[in-house]
Amino acid sequence: MVDVVVCHYHEIGLKGKNRDFFERKLVENIKKAVAPEFFEWVKKFPGRIVISLTEKGSKNLPKIKKSLNYVFGISYFAFALSCSPQVSEIKKSALGFIKIKKGKTFKIETKRSNKKFPYSSQKINEIVGEYVLKHLKGKKVKLENPKITCFIEILPKIAFLYTEKIKGLGGLPVTTAGKVVSLLSGGIDSPVASFLLQKRGAKVVFVHFHAYPYTNKASIEKAKEIVEILNKYQFGSKLYLVPFAEIQKEILLKTQAKFRVILYRRAMFKIAQFIAKKENAKGLVSGESLGQVASQTLENILAIDEAVSLPVFRPLVGMNKEEIINLAKEIGTYDISILPHEDCCARFIPKHPETKADLKKIKQEEKKFNLRNLIQKTQKRVEIVVFK
Ligand code: ATP
Ligand code: MG
Repeated sequence: MVDVVVCHYHEIGLKGKNRDFFERKLVENIKKAVAPEFFEWVKKFPGRIVISLTEKGSKNLPKIKKSLNYVFGISYFAFALSCSPQVSEIKKSALGFIKIKKGKTFKIETKRSNKKFPYSSQKINEIVGEYVLKHLKGKKVKLENPKITCFIEILPKIAFLYTEKIKGLGGLPVTTAGKVVSLLSGGIDSPVASFLLQKRGAKVVFVHFHAYPYTNKASIEKAKEIVEILNKYQFGSKLYLVPFAEIQKEILLKTQAKFRVILYRRAMFKIAQFIAKKENAKGLVSGESLGQVASQTLENILAIDEAVSLPVFRPLVGMNKEEIINLAKEIGTYDISILPHEDCCARFIPKHPETKADLKKIKQEEKKFNLRNLIQKTQKRVEIVVFK
């Protein structure tokens, strides 16, 4: 019976002149998310996107639901029945639809986007309600908390009926904001930070720094598994794997212990910026927060950001650790993040790292080794993993 999925958006509706661009991206992303054998077409309708299902699609609603739960930009969606926008048709469709639903009480809730339609929404509710009552003995109208709510949307050329609104991810369609490069460790935070940029419409390119062969490959495997998950939200990803041990060795040999964490991060951000330039990405993303660990102070953030010219996004800055963990669980990255691995930066970290970096001192320390040279050498050994 269900032959379409009606997808509603919220923020796109506010986009004014750019609205068409956002809607087209959403159509494109829905087509990438849902298996091709499940739909005939995906089209823009006034105020919503509609997916026309194939017979196979109609029989696989749980799978389609799962796919749509990876599409940013949808505020809610509904598996619906379509019919021509005439009262006689709508009545019959509503009857058939309510008949097969469990529950004795119902109400009709109509929205007209076609204001030329001869009846008001309230009038349609009454006409359809009466018709259903007459033909279905045992069902009753109940306006507050009914077991079944039959939603009717009337558009100029078509009407949709459904009984359940399914919550979507919200946000904006991925790629509408352009690209960013995200520094992805094996930890809990950076996958969540990446996800939040995706949510605002950015396509994320991932960079992971590792110390292999000085450590095992666990962190690399974790990074791959995490990207595998985040890739579902953006339909195609790249993961840059950067060997970082040589740079760490130099920093270790030539600089004071307490500056190491900041010097490591500055080197990471510089390399990430090189990758961003190559990828035409316009920002960097980090999973840092403020005050979450001793090294994440405003002074240190300032000292790290000074190394690059691109803006650095730290979307976790307003979140508690507990909130971050809960979101990581929802996204599906948490279980991977908590697996043990040897963090490249956790090696040779002093007990008391600098918490209030003095930029002048940091830059003096940085002169003790040839970072530019090291970065050039490192760039040649970068591996890229592509996810379809
Ligand atoms: P996470 O949970 O993401 O590891 P964290 O709370 O452990 O973050 P730090 O270890 O201080 O914080 O790292 C801060 C940020 O620096 C990370 O969120 C990540 O963006 C980046 N980062 C740290 N280590 C790496 C790495 N090996 N590769 C890529 N990025 C890294
Ligand atoms: Mg970490």
